[in-house]
Amino acid sequence: MEIAQNIDLKPYNTFGFSYEAKSAYFFQSIEDLEKLHQTHEWFRASNFLILGGGSNILLTQNIEQPVLINEINDSISIIEESEDHITLEVGAGKNWHDFVIWTIDNGYGGLENLSLIPGKVGAAPMQNIGAYGVEIKDSLHSLRAFDIQKGEMTTFTNAACQLGYRESIFKRERKGQFIIAYVRFTLTKRNHKLNTAYGAITSELEANGITTPTIKDISNAVIAIRQSKLPDPKKLGNSGSFFKNPVVPLDIFETLQKDYSNIVGFPVYNGVKLAAGWLIEQTGWKGKQIGNVGVHKKQALVLVHYGGGKGEDLLALSKAVQDAVLKKFGVTLEPEVNIL
Ligand SMILES: Cc1cc2nc3c(=O)[nH]c(=O)nc-3n(C[C@H](O)[C@H](O)[C@H](O)COP(=O)(O)OP(=O)(O)OC[C@H]3O[C@@H](n4cnc5c(N)ncnc54)[C@H](O)[C@@H]3O)c2cc1C
Repeated sequence: MEIAQNIDLKPYNTFGFSYEAKSAYFFQSIEDLEKLHQTHEWFRASNFLILGGGSNILLTQNIEQPVLINEINDSISIIEESEDHITLEVGAGKNWHDFVIWTIDNGYGGLENLSLIPGKVGAAPMQNIGAYGVEIKDSLHSLRAFDIQKGEMTTFTNAACQLGYRESIFKRERKGQFIIAYVRFTLTKRNHKLNTAYGAITSELEANGITTPTIKDISNAVIAIRQSKLPDPKKLGNSGSFFKNPVVPLDIFETLQKDYSNIVGFPVYNGVKLAAGWLIEQTGWKGKQIGNVGVHKKQALVLVHYGGGKGEDLLALSKAVQDAVLKKFGVTLEPEVNIL
């Protein structure tokens, strides 16, 4: 395990904000975690910050606590296999998109709609990553996590993770108690259940003359759509959607519809999910820049850092956007990004 002192966290967060960490531990195995548990009180007290790819965090200050950077990247192993399905285990430090491409290249279906999401495998269950009608909830078999207090491994089934819309037990009741070390997925080997319900995927496939798509075709379509709509963090700092799409009760939605006949909403089990990007756009914030931070020109849900700015500035911008949406629609936007 490599240990570094006084490091700049700029390369470790996709917003590209420069804050210092007093110490950083690059762990590569369960043994590394066991060693930290045996030797450091701060570890047993869960007084540290763990990072994967830093694509879902907003740093707003220097980090005094030790920072743990997940580099568990053993080779992918097969847990069980039948004619129709395969269950794989993958190290939490593996790059998510590389893993998705590996599954597709091997003919395993289930993750193709989640192509090109930044970050590492271990953070994916944290917020049940999702895109284009699919969430990892749909294929996650279980995960193995290190119990920070007890210093031992424990298994969580899919149900035990309590995955919801950008939610899991690890963000709520069990926050700060586990380090996700290995994740298992059950994928299809044939008769793949393709999800092309999202209009943009259908249009992209049609544009390429594809009528009977493969999982690779869907992955390519998703990659093309994402590249055309979302800023590449290597070129423009961002963390994808900054806010969650808010869910409001049906009666509130109907009242809003009276004033805004073109309001965008999708029925969900507990009400109607509004498109946060649309709400922000209506307040006039889309494309606005304040100093070194702003709201993306093409996608109002994405807040961006043009370089040389501070996380505090972006936090202030996010609050101004929240206030504007609350004032206009009476709807509270909740950040999807973890603010530190
Ligand atoms: C351009 C762009 C597009 C995006 N598109 C999507 C999208 O379509 N759908 C979507 O859901 N998300 C999207 N995201 C958000 C982000 O990519 C995902 O949330 C991703 O899973 C975060 O992974 P990470 O490794 O970077 O996590 P980090 O940002 O490093 O960490 C996120 C949180 O998880 C904790 N954590 C990280 N690893 C572990 C671990 N092993 N054990 C315990 N806790 C851990 C961290 O402490 C932090 O609280 C996008 C981001 C960007 C920049």
